[in-house]
Amino acid sequence: MQTKPRMWEGDPCLRNGRLHTRQGNVTESHRSRKSDFARKCIAIILLHAIFLFAILAALIIGHWISEENQKLNRTMLNTTLTEAYLLEGSMANTATPVMHDHKHTRLLTTSSGQRKGPPRVLEKKRNFTLVDVFPPPPDGGFGIAEQLHAIRGNKLTTDALLVPLPLYILPYHYDLKFDFTKFDTDLLIRANVSIYLESYGNSTEDEIQFHLGPNVKVERMRLRKDGRKFYAKTFKREDSKKLGRISLRDPLQKGKYVLEIEYNATICDDDVDGVRCSLDNQTNSSLKATSFTTKFEPTLARAFFPCWDEPGVKATFNISVKHDKRYVVLSNMPGNPPLGHWDEQVTTTVFQTTPPMSTYLVAFAIGEFVKLETRTERGIPVTVWTYPEDLMSMKFTLEYAPVIFDRLEDILEIPYPLPKVDLIAARNFHVGGMENWGLVVFEFSSIAYTPPITNHVNETVDRMYNEFRIGKLIAHEAAHQWFGNLVTMRDWSELFLNEGFATFYVYEMMSIERPLTAQFEYYDSLATLVAAQSSEDHRLSLVRELATESQVELSFHPTNLYTKGCVLIRMIRDLVSDYDFKAAVRRYLRRNAYRSVSRDDLFASLPAYADHGAEQKKLSNVLEGWLVNEGLPEVTLIRNYDNEMMTISQRKTLDHDYRSYLKDRKSNSRQSRSAEDGSTLFDDTLFEGYIEKKTERKRKLRPTRRKTSTPPSISPTARRDELRKPRRVGASQDLWTIPITYMFGSLKTSEGQVIREFWLKNRTVSFGDAEISPNQAVLVNPEWKYPYRVNYDLLNWKLLARTLHQNHLEINNKSRMQLIQDAEYFLSNSNNPHLYLYLLGYLAHESNINVMLFGIDAVYRFIDVFKATQLNKAILVYFEPVISQMDHLLNESQVDAETASLWLVRPERLSKLYQMRCAAGLASCKNEFHTQKWSKSPDEWTEDVHKQVTAVCHQLFSSPLEAVKTVNELLDSRLHSSGAKWALTVQLAACSHDQKLLRKTARAVVGTKNAAVYASALQSDFSLHYNGAFRKYLWTEISKMSIFEKTALFSTNTTTILPASRVLLHSVKTIDELQQIRSLLTNWGPLLTLHFEYLERYLLWVSSVSQGVLHQFFAADLSNF
Ligand SMILES: [Zn+2]
Repeated sequence: MQTKPRMWEGDPCLRNGRLHTRQGNVTESHRSRKSDFARKCIAIILLHAIFLFAILAALIIGHWISEENQKLNRTMLNTTLTEAYLLEGSMANTATPVMHDHKHTRLLTTSSGQRKGPPRVLEKKRNFTLVDVFPPPPDGGFGIAEQLHAIRGNKLTTDALLVPLPLYILPYHYDLKFDFTKFDTDLLIRANVSIYLESYGNSTEDEIQFHLGPNVKVERMRLRKDGRKFYAKTFKREDSKKLGRISLRDPLQKGKYVLEIEYNATICDDDVDGVRCSLDNQTNSSLKATSFTTKFEPTLARAFFPCWDEPGVKATFNISVKHDKRYVVLSNMPGNPPLGHWDEQVTTTVFQTTPPMSTYLVAFAIGEFVKLETRTERGIPVTVWTYPEDLMSMKFTLEYAPVIFDRLEDILEIPYPLPKVDLIAARNFHVGGMENWGLVVFEFSSIAYTPPITNHVNETVDRMYNEFRIGKLIAHEAAHQWFGNLVTMRDWSELFLNEGFATFYVYEMMSIERPLTAQFEYYDSLATLVAAQSSEDHRLSLVRELATESQVELSFHPTNLYTKGCVLIRMIRDLVSDYDFKAAVRRYLRRNAYRSVSRDDLFASLPAYADHGAEQKKLSNVLEGWLVNEGLPEVTLIRNYDNEMMTISQRKTLDHDYRSYLKDRKSNSRQSRSAEDGSTLFDDTLFEGYIEKKTERKRKLRPTRRKTSTPPSISPTARRDELRKPRRVGASQDLWTIPITYMFGSLKTSEGQVIREFWLKNRTVSFGDAEISPNQAVLVNPEWKYPYRVNYDLLNWKLLARTLHQNHLEINNKSRMQLIQDAEYFLSNSNNPHLYLYLLGYLAHESNINVMLFGIDAVYRFIDVFKATQLNKAILVYFEPVISQMDHLLNESQVDAETASLWLVRPERLSKLYQMRCAAGLASCKNEFHTQKWSKSPDEWTEDVHKQVTAVCHQLFSSPLEAVKTVNELLDSRLHSSGAKWALTVQLAACSHDQKLLRKTARAVVGTKNAAVYASALQSDFSLHYNGAFRKYLWTEISKMSIFEKTALFSTNTTTILPASRVLLHSVKTIDELQQIRSLLTNWGPLLTLHFEYLERYLLWVSSVSQGVLHQFFAADLSNF
């Protein structure tokens, strides 16, 4: 399955763009026009993101009051929500409720979902300490899916335990006869199923258990053995576990049984997921459906037909559907020509028998669909189904899908096993795509794209962005046809066997056409993963016990499952070599075709040993830790510069350990840590040896032939035997077997760069390396190959930073990305933030756009932390050459469409750059120009919206009051508007220094009674400035609210802090402001009190380092640093 893609799609952004820019002068070249169009594209996406943010945030966290107390004024809230919907109406095609603007999603990434979801780490704890305080993640965006799941799924409140069904009787075949003739009018289906069961050996068991959704109403039931009736005593339902239980008069005997059930099931009911209906709005009297598609993953097949609904239990299926002739009915296999008389209204479609497959992959679609057809190279029909009006937008999908299937067949050397593949662009589907075998269902907009009729060069970025987005999704679902459908994980706890491989092959497929974007997006996701796994809230292990349905649902997490799974598969490949990996994957698929597997089956197909340096390690032992351990490791290198000794140690990474303002915490029971002072344990008995990198093994590549035979099916008995294998989850530890690589030396010397490798299995090793001279930097994990963080002693950090300044090309660009990430993590909140600042300074020479995109985030966050301090100006001056270089790379990247589309991986980076260049006072801000333009026609936000608003905001903030008087007046008059106009007016007014306007704006914001609007106003997306006056007025207005409202807003009486409260509190940048908030209430409750203590320490640290080390840093001569 693919959760909604990270980037939602707006209107193809360049279609509306005018072909000539107004600001362009006559000599402006074609190149700069193109560049403007690419930026416009991004800017329009950004604008949509803001609006979408407003809607989603309002929906999700805006209802803090109504949640807390029904008595409060609902009308007010509803007005806000209505406005939000009005906003949505103004951008017709952008209804996909998923955000890519991670800055905004901060609001969602906190823990409000906890009450609905399964118990999470935080809830287990009772005594909160400072380490339980987590500020909203800066902009990683992890946790969104959890939130959306939790919010969407009211059904999760009726969470069901996953009860493994007994193994003494199992199905091997289903005959499913459906009647869909009443689905549209009565919203129900009728069916007659015969489940062919095998009972293994004479047993004393006299009960048959199977899964049965509460919406399935059984009418008749019969059990037969060898054609004769077999008497049941009772039939009971256990709806809390979604089970049916038949107790028998006599114990089961060895042999075959048939269970026949006649039933009807309601569909299109919000409480019953699994069937997604398109409802006809035109019918007033009663609801009518016009089509539906199904998605049974993970545990929803039972809501459609009684079954053994576990991924490991595979069976074959004969399916037939009686339906109205005007509808098309689709299922996993090809349907025979409809039966029945030509003049009858009703017909029956009979589908071919499926191969053995899991119930969660069975699928249906019915509706008045139309189709586009093509074929793979091997002649397999690929059909795209949709609604007649949408056919045009499926062109790319139709062209690209067979290419992907051909490629996968080539790489995997196993032909796609079914006789056809249908792709359907469904409406009202709530995930991006679902890989049902042979019938892949997509949410319409996630594969729809109508290319512009003209083929203007300026539209290239737009097209590439859309094709990449759609291509990824198709590749993901196509890879599942092998990984998941042909070979299926036996237990949901090992879902990474599905999603890890599917995500891995997305990058493999996409890097054929789009190497730059695919590579950058991989490292961007890796960074998000490492950030998520460094936070106690989010560092989930890949393999873990899943006890309830909702735990399984929540495990479909874009970062903790998809990215982590992909990174681990990639690690396997890097450890065993590409050649061995490919062979192992083919072996894995061939051996386990039509079976269900555990990770042991994957291990059995992989090479038994992996070498890294001189020593070999058993691969399964290496991988186990990476799979079952929570979080990710960090590796610390401490050098002794006097005696050439080095100590390398590992531990589980946790971001709070590097916030120096939390250092004196007493309550922390974790082992004492000592990364900064260099006193790491010295134990050379643990030394495991290291050796210079061996030359790359050269192997002769065998020519590959595409195999045309499908692997043979296996017997139900064999399948049942594999189900009996014990289930294994594994306990999390904080030790990993880590492939350590380190590098030193210079490309400019005759020795060149030296690389050494060894396995780190223990906590720590110490050894000497006489070849490294004390003034050489040592770099660990070159090319950011493996997913662990690296910390160094301070001098080595300094040497690395110096190398970057002197010649950054000595360090590979992927390593530069990792250095920026790790330096921020280990240094930015330490007592040595100046070292981090110094390192970032090298970006003034950075020439690689990928690295610079990481740099934009890092520099932005640094400026943001200190923006309310006296150093703000000095920091901006220091970064000016860096920001100029970012500008330069932005311009340069626009020459090539693929490079330009890198900005679309996270378009909010562009908005950050706009803010930074204005804050640093660069000419490219064009504040006066944009302010004049906007004052003349304030409703024309057709292009470069972020650029323009940011520039106007900067003008308001930085000009004397008299100079912007008319702009302030204009804003004042527009505070009465509504919808998008109002939102932008508020954002702009918050940049002003006009006290009257600020007071009025604060009143308007607080008047919405919507926490999302408050948070959004405090965290402007258009300005890096700190407008203390506006914030003061806003808190003053909030102070006028009743105690009851304030208590609700800050959720002071709950054990979990609401997202809104967390964002509001943590947006504070000065101690004074914190005091002002503190005075809002007398009793803040234990959790909020902790947040205050946290923030107080943090803000004191900000002021002390800015007056201390940072101040000295700016006063000193940097050339001697
Ligand atoms: Zn998937």
